[in-house]
Amino acid sequence: MIYNEEFETLPREALEALQLKRLKQVVQRVYYTVGFYRRAFDQAGVQPENLKTLDDLKRFPFTGKQDLRENYPFGLFAVPMSSIVRLHASSGTTGRATVVGYTQRDIDTWSELMARCFAAAGLTKNDMIHNAYGYGLFTGGLGAHYGAERLGASVIPISGGNTKRQITILQDFGPTAICCTPSYALNLAEQGKAMGVDMRALKLRVGIFGAEPWSEEMRREIESALNLTALNIYGLSEIMGPGVSMECLEGRQGMHIAEDHFLVETINPDTGEVLPPGETGELVFTTITKEAFPLVRYRTRDISRLIPEPCRCGRTHHRMDRIMGRSDDMLIIRGVNVFPSQIEAVLVGIEGIEPHYQLIVDRIDNLDTIEVQVEVSDELFSNADEVKVLQNMERRIVKDIKDYLGISAKVKLVEPKSLQRFEGKATRVQDKRRI
Ligand code: ADP
Ligand code: ZN
Repeated sequence: MIYNEEFETLPREALEALQLKRLKQVVQRVYYTVGFYRRAFDQAGVQPENLKTLDDLKRFPFTGKQDLRENYPFGLFAVPMSSIVRLHASSGTTGRATVVGYTQRDIDTWSELMARCFAAAGLTKNDMIHNAYGYGLFTGGLGAHYGAERLGASVIPISGGNTKRQITILQDFGPTAICCTPSYALNLAEQGKAMGVDMRALKLRVGIFGAEPWSEEMRREIESALNLTALNIYGLSEIMGPGVSMECLEGRQGMHIAEDHFLVETINPDTGEVLPPGETGELVFTTITKEAFPLVRYRTRDISRLIPEPCRCGRTHHRMDRIMGRSDDMLIIRGVNVFPSQIEAVLVGIEGIEPHYQLIVDRIDNLDTIEVQVEVSDELFSNADEVKVLQNMERRIVKDIKDYLGISAKVKLVEPKSLQRFEGKATRVQDKRRI
């Protein structure tokens, strides 16, 4: 079923006319209401009036994650706080999280777009949705929740964690659909099996998985472990949250982008040059209907490819391929976005350790793990005749990382000068995950 038949199947020409009309409005609005955009446009020598066609967008400057950080927390909002009804923040940052705001109309749009996603997965009001995305500042939980309610489905707001209880509820309530990260889906399958539950016999028919990278191989694994159809959903807080794009049940190849609300470009991440549709590059989004937090040419750092060919489901919105990587060093650890520089920031604040570290990321029993290996200082090392000193230090680092970044890391202190030194760019991360 297509939730919003009119908008999701607009002929390209009509869609582009609508996009241009909306884009002109947004460019005007940010120029006159957000100081950052006024300065950025002036600096780039462009005015809102210079935008006459969709193609003119490429004359406008990009917005980057750094711009969001510099305007933390509310500097890029285009409406006063009295018009904002909801705030979210992207996970795990040291007080410089990305904070996003929504007006009531933004929430309505988001709910509709998530309802479209559920409908694209073949769900209706007769379905029951087990929503295991985390509720809270993270956009996943509430985003999916409002979408499920908008569709009229019955939603179980189970949130993340407490896996045994989740398995009991899956058995007792009999939901027909599940939303969570793909790695958590595998974890549920495994723990269920360990509890002696036949996870293939549950009522689950479809799973909507996203918020972290995954592969076709992982899709097959999840489908066979849980006996359901696994679909991919993509989004990011900056642009809205989950629901920016979603795979359809009929096509199951690439995610339809809600192009009546977001303009998408792919660029060469090194030069910023716009690539022809179909070529692999970094995704750049412009929001064309958002009120509270509009972004022009936001560089996602996500690498993918647009699929302009028509889809058998009848939707005319272009699709994007699954995310193939990132053009920066962001790691996603159990759904939490983490930059190595954030871990470094925690480490340099601690006396007795050196700024030499290595991060080893792995996936064990379908759960991401991260080990921080860090050198201790000569003084601490030679004073550490008592193992206790080192143990306390380890515990403190674990706690600080948890407090600041929200992730549970394993910490291993190593001897001074034992880690590899780099001549050029340091490669501090070993990602051993096979996904
Ligand atoms: P979310 O709540 O959607 O995880 P965040 O802003 O915390 O939002 O993280 C967004 C990032 O998560 C994206 O930029 C992308 O790197 C990653 N992501 C989200 N969905 C997917 C997906 N389906 N496949 C791969 N990566 C994804
Ligand atoms: Zn389709």
